[in-house]
Amino acid sequence: MKYEIELEKAFAVMENAYVPYSNYKVGACVKLKDGNYIVGANVENAAYSPTMCGERNAIFQAYSQGYRKDDVESITIVTSGKRIGTPCGVCRQVLVELIHQDTPIVLSNKTETRITNIANLLPDSFNEEDLDYGI
Ligand SMILES: [Zn+2]
Repeated sequence: MKYEIELEKAFAVMENAYVPYSNYKVGACVKLKDGNYIVGANVENAAYSPTMCGERNAIFQAYSQGYRKDDVESITIVTSGKRIGTPCGVCRQVLVELIHQDTPIVLSNKTETRITNIANLLPDSFNEEDLDYGI
């Protein structure tokens, strides 16, 4: 299968999720065109709002290491839920700016896998082009 390595890494990091409140584990793996992989898991907090999603952890880490959207080949997001989990609204807003519209987003929960992209997940988005005031 084409995304076998990414899925393996995402499911492995999913086990590191810190989710004492929801018990909903998420793992993510950003595959980079240079052959590197960057992973992230969700980390919750008793105050709830500081909670960080797995896919944001992974893509922010990639950007922190100097990678940009042209470097991202795909992002794989896996969950422990009964049905495939899709990125939350906040993550969709982040991804619409940090990856290309057609970058494959692979979603899986072990029993099912599907591939989509951020253009499908967040159509008609507000993005960086909206902030061009012509100044
Ligand atoms: Zn999210």
